[in-house]
Amino acid sequence: MLGCVIHGQGDLRVEELPRPVPGPGQALVAVRYGGVCGSDLHYWRHGGVGDFRLREPMLLGHEVVGTVVEYGSPDTPGPAVGTSVAVHPATPCGVCPECADGRRNVCRDTRYLGSAARFPHVQGGFAQFRAVPAEQLRPLPGGLDLRRAALAEPLSVALHAVRRAGPVAGRHVLVTGAGPIGCLVVAAAKAAGADRVTVTDLLPEALRYASVAGADTLVRADDPSDAGWPAEVDVAVEASGVAAGLDTCLRLVRRGGVVVQLGMLPPGQSPFAGNLVVSREIELRGAFRFDTEFDDALALLTAGPSFDGLISAVVPVRAAESAFALAADRARACKVLLDLSDA
Ligand code: ZN
Repeated sequence: MLGCVIHGQGDLRVEELPRPVPGPGQALVAVRYGGVCGSDLHYWRHGGVGDFRLREPMLLGHEVVGTVVEYGSPDTPGPAVGTSVAVHPATPCGVCPECADGRRNVCRDTRYLGSAARFPHVQGGFAQFRAVPAEQLRPLPGGLDLRRAALAEPLSVALHAVRRAGPVAGRHVLVTGAGPIGCLVVAAAKAAGADRVTVTDLLPEALRYASVAGADTLVRADDPSDAGWPAEVDVAVEASGVAAGLDTCLRLVRRGGVVVQLGMLPPGQSPFAGNLVVSREIELRGAFRFDTEFDDALALLTAGPSFDGLISAVVPVRAAESAFALAADRARACKVLLDLSDA
């Protein structure tokens, strides 16, 4: 089978790998689509993401959907063979203080597909077959096809960020960054009842995708005279992963408002307007991955055909490097999917 392995900065290879054999409690999934995520792009372009560095070759990919092929043992509970599934990428430990506290997404000993956060790295899902714990499988609701379901993981990230913001119904929400995650935050905020969502980005092409996702106001981040700049917002979600985005959020959120940092900032320290946090009593909260939001995401996708408009391209896995280049070019693409079946 083919898999898409990162060997180091700029060294992405599509290689022949042995087909995995599922162990007890595991299912073998024939992967159909894998969404290329910003973190996959960071491993490719920079050899790491945030403070996580590559230290050995790693199969990329954690936005994975496919069909169940077989189970490692016949008594394993799970969807029937042949069922279309989305794969929840996280396996929290279940016993650490965070897991006990219901915050499994920040489990200190979690395993997450295609992540270098721990060593040995957890191999990812950009492979034609992947063995995963059966409890990570989610059958697709009726009416949801595999292609749109590939957005379940990034939409879960967005839903979690909005949940971290607290109630947004009737409120004005600012989203800085109109990449795939920013666009999905727009959709999540609107689904949660936000009255108005304003999105900022440097690129008009990216802002057009935010519009597809339901944004009310689009603002060019590099144009101080843009008429769309709000005087003040109730909630801000930073989805660009650059310090300038966080600065914008802190300056525009109302006194006592909430800013959620979702974008992974560059490695090390980032400057930010800390005194605004003090003098305006801004609540600055992090948002990392997700937990049960995965099921909410599948339901939201089922009811939302407009999500298809965020998928820019589906590229055969053999052309993974060109798919990555396309996904990295935000003037040309929003979400790019690898097609693992078309090899
Ligand atoms: Zn844990």
